[in-house]
Amino acid sequence: MATIADVVPGSSVRHGFRDPAYRAALGVEHLGADLAAPIGTPVRSPVSGRVSFAGQDDASGEGGLGAKVQADDGASVGVWHLSRVDVAAGQRVAPGQQLGLAGQSGGAVYPHTHLQVEQPPGTPVDPLGYLAGLGGGGIGGPIVGGSIVGGAVVALLVAAALLED
Ligand SMILES: [Zn+2]
Repeated sequence: MATIADVVPGSSVRHGFRDPAYRAALGVEHLGADLAAPIGTPVRSPVSGRVSFAGQDDASGEGGLGAKVQADDGASVGVWHLSRVDVAAGQRVAPGQQLGLAGQSGGAVYPHTHLQVEQPPGTPVDPLGYLAGLGGGGIGGPIVGGSIVGGAVVALLVAAALLED
């Protein structure tokens, strides 16, 4: 399994998925998990996949700077309120690869990373549950079932995943 430490090291969950307190305070459903961490903390991809978006949230501006990864398992994994983005749309990323730095951009009122997982895209799910379902240390089903790396590497990753499960 993976944890929030694999996405934002040292972070803690301030508001979880569909947090009733968040809904009561802001009048909207919270569709991700808010990982509180200082500005400048590395934000990493928990999955292998392709960057589908990187940059400023143009839709509402609320997200600020963000990045979304189209994971190889079909999920969409987004991180928002970053202070810096280190990837570009179309780029492939591996588990553990840095997507950017935590920040307080967009509508964030304190430094945190909004982690939103949609599986399939358009259907938000609890990010913590999604992370827990991944293989060890973020090395999970996506790579084991993938086709992007050579057989020897796959065998190593499968062994690592089995050891850490
Ligand atoms: Zn949030």
